[in-house]
Amino acid sequence: MSHRAHDYRYLIERWRAVARKTGIPLRSLGRTDGFEHFYLRTPALTASGGIYFSAGIHGDEPASTEALITWAEQQGRKLRDLPLFLFPCLNAWGLVQNVRLTLQGADLNRSFHRTDIPVIEAVKKAVAGHQFDAAVMLHEDYDGQGVYLYEVQRLQPYWGEALLTAARVHLPTDPRPKIDGRMVANGIHRRRIDRRRFARIGYPEAVWLHLEHSARSFTVETPSEFALELRVAAHIAVIEDVIYRVRR
Ligand SMILES: [Zn+2]
Repeated sequence: MSHRAHDYRYLIERWRAVARKTGIPLRSLGRTDGFEHFYLRTPALTASGGIYFSAGIHGDEPASTEALITWAEQQGRKLRDLPLFLFPCLNAWGLVQNVRLTLQGADLNRSFHRTDIPVIEAVKKAVAGHQFDAAVMLHEDYDGQGVYLYEVQRLQPYWGEALLTAARVHLPTDPRPKIDGRMVANGIHRRRIDRRRFARIGYPEAVWLHLEHSARSFTVETPSEFALELRVAAHIAVIEDVIYRVRR
């Protein structure tokens, strides 16, 4: 296990190696805050279906970026056969600095209603026209006491419980009944989109995806005071379970 989780250059070296091995191009999202950002689109992806995965939108949540690359490395050439959009790290400056926000002080996960943030505009352009079966945003919480997730309410049966069960092999479910002022039951906050609330606080990535691009949307949180290896393993368990559910 690498302990260079905040080393963006190394992270991208690893993604370049995945790109070389699989023949999936590492595509640019342009430069923001002095760093080039990237995405990958597997050849198995068509305009409808597949999964959107993103990591590192908050720079102080390193298990997210570490999990996505570690999982991708484990797939080898099989990665080509999975229908995926992958965003390895959306806030490279934040990852290097170990801070949540961007150099300009923006919380990218409250900024998807904006049109003046280059990396977000690049993400929107990259996925334009795609309709996903599921979108999974990998996050961490420094107050976390276990794994929990947000599932936007739409399709049933819900998947949240199964995803936490998969993660529980590595980390417990967060027992708190209330997280960031919101009610959570057994590690799951399931919500409908309250447009007024998000007009006030700004649009998270999950809300934008729910409204425009994805049937299901999950924001997965691991507890950042726990061991990195366990947080990475928990995220990978969720990634694999979502892929299993989309493909069966
Ligand atoms: Zn976060």
